Amino acid sequence: MSDKNYHYTQNLIVWLMHYNELYDVYITRKRVKNITLRIKNDGTALCTAPMRLSWQDIDVFIQSHTTWLEKQRKKLAKLSALRVSIAENELLFRGKKYQYIQVKELASLVLFDHERLCIRAAADMNIPEEKEAWYIEQALRIIPPKVAYFAEKFGFIYKNVTIRNQKTKWGSCSAKKNLNFNYKLVQTPDYVLDYLILHELAHTEHLHHGPTFWARVEQCCPDYKKAEHYLRHEGRVL
Ligand SMILES: [Zn+2]
Repeated sequence: MSDKNYHYTQNLIVWLMHYNELYDVYITRKRVKNITLRIKNDGTALCTAPMRLSWQDIDVFIQSHTTWLEKQRKKLAKLSALRVSIAENELLFRGKKYQYIQVKELASLVLFDHERLCIRAAADMNIPEEKEAWYIEQALRIIPPKVAYFAEKFGFIYKNVTIRNQKTKWGSCSAKKNLNFNYKLVQTPDYVLDYLILHELAHTEHLHHGPTFWARVEQCCPDYKKAEHYLRHEGRVL
């Protein structure tokens, strides 16, 4: 935290931590006795300062709380990652939240209204097994053709694709070039799913995470770091 740069605007102090994370602290002046600092649930930091307190004093106060701020932010990030943000009758599908309506007459048919973000299907999504079966069905529909497409496009050779309910892994590749994917990947945005597929395909050539492996991943998926970031930070929700 030693080399932070900060500057003032009238109601706002912005400062840059040494690891390039930007922290905004919104300052409001009110008829209060003491200066206070709090963090809202969305991560915004709010400082309420007495009318007459100088900018310098406000700055000193906030600076002396940077460690506290950082801790609160981290706590909040952990909490929101653990929190299941999907309400009842909501489905996370390809990175978007859909309203789910059960229509028993549909049998095996699934109606996707991508415009109004609504999914109609016969499954009862309040029963975890039915919900899981539904997701697996979608994963089987989406993932194997994508694998075939990317393998062809980038010249990979693989054997079989299996969709699994894996508790801890997003995907894997065996020495025999069999690929496994977690069905929950259909809940992530397409760029994340595509990356994971390319990641496992790259393992058909490099069964390790060494530089040659990552070079091959980057060649097929230049934005792979963004997807890695998503899986690290949002992935726990799923
Ligand atoms: Zn890997």
